[in-house]
Amino acid sequence: METVNLFGLTDEQRMIRESVLDLLGRVLPREKIKVMDKTGEYPAEAYQALADAGWMGLIYPEQYGGMGGTYKDFAVLAEAIAYHYAGIAQAYLVSAIYGASHIFKNGNEAQRAEFLPRIMRGEIKFALGISEPAAGSDVASIRTRAVRQGNEYVINGQKLYTTCAHVADYLIVVAKTNPDGGQAGISIFIVDARQPGVTVRPMDMLGRHTSHTNEVFLDDVRTPATWMIGEENNGWHCLMACLNVERLGMAAVGTGNSFKVLDYALDYAKQRVQFGKPISRFQSIQHKLADMRIMAENARLLTYRVAELIDHDQPCIMETSMAKIVATEANFNCANHGMQILGGAGYTCDYDMEMFFRDARVGPIGGGSNEIQRNIMAKLMDC
Ligand SMILES: Cc1cc2nc3c(=O)[nH]c(=O)nc-3n(C[C@H](O)[C@H](O)[C@H](O)COP(=O)(O)OP(=O)(O)OC[C@H]3O[C@@H](n4cnc5c(N)ncnc54)[C@H](O)[C@@H]3O)c2cc1C
Repeated sequence: METVNLFGLTDEQRMIRESVLDLLGRVLPREKIKVMDKTGEYPAEAYQALADAGWMGLIYPEQYGGMGGTYKDFAVLAEAIAYHYAGIAQAYLVSAIYGASHIFKNGNEAQRAEFLPRIMRGEIKFALGISEPAAGSDVASIRTRAVRQGNEYVINGQKLYTTCAHVADYLIVVAKTNPDGGQAGISIFIVDARQPGVTVRPMDMLGRHTSHTNEVFLDDVRTPATWMIGEENNGWHCLMACLNVERLGMAAVGTGNSFKVLDYALDYAKQRVQFGKPISRFQSIQHKLADMRIMAENARLLTYRVAELIDHDQPCIMETSMAKIVATEANFNCANHGMQILGGAGYTCDYDMEMFFRDARVGPIGGGSNEIQRNIMAKLMDC
């Protein structure tokens, strides 16, 4: 059973939700997800099916192969994808948003024309390399260095946690062009991930096994100067320009998966009988389910609000941080409640709950940790 109240969605948005759930139900059935989570196989077929249906380009203009949709449309789509499975939502976001939005928002016309239509068609995938061993939350302290030589830049350094780099054709690499410049020394490059000098080493992580993270080593990697995104040393502003949309995506994923966990726990509670009745009749279980519903609905409200603010060109840094915090924490707290509701079954690998629990834990850590989001909010409140 699906817990869903579609009030406020347009007919098109309802169609987006129904159509993507139907598609993923066919190409990525639940039994398959469970197997892929064990083997760590990338959901290539489902990814291509999303691209073939046009969903990679939902928010991009038709001239680049997109659909010209709104950010609210995108929030509805990302929520539905993550309702089906967080791993395919992550794979989707990495190329469709982390990759494509950098090129769309900050790239020049030649870069847009060269890369966006191919991303939309699913022909190429991107991964985003910001984090490094010594620079996580403190992005301005990255050490990867890019030095201009003629018509190229030569890049040396190491990236960490680069999601989906193992399947990427291209990387967005954030590097220092002025090592002493702090934020003002950062530039962003498109890099061919298949060339010599790029080494991708998969990491062993707690969750999100099908869209896993990687170490990326860059040794004398050459990239054309024409593939620099934006101006030299202006990369910080480019990064900031994409943050709202990236975090909107994370909030939508947290929301969608919170509803999935709720529905899964609710179904189980109605079927599991103890003391002669379904455990869903016990008030302590009912209260957990009610709290899960509140958390998921709250996350959805804040997420849709950010989408609408972006659609109306309204400033929304504070709202985006709130949505990212609330949705990612809702996702993990729902999974934690869900595991308690399933009891021992939740702790076994026979049920999906342990995967939900592992997959949800990264939300408050990645994409600017929730501590950093709270710092942003405190700064905006002039604390
Ligand atoms: C599954 C996964 C996928 C990821 N995918 C990508 C990706 O595709 N590309 C990419 O570039 N990165 C990616 N990351 C990296 C992610 O963005 C970082 O993990 C995150 O920014 C935190 O950095 P860190 O892990 O180095 O933690 P640190 O920065 O070392 O922080 C450790 C702890 O200290 C806290 N902390 C740090 N500074 C402050 C402060 N000023 N105030 C309060 N608390 C603070 C943090 O909140 C955290 O709790 C991924 C990470 C994970 C786990």
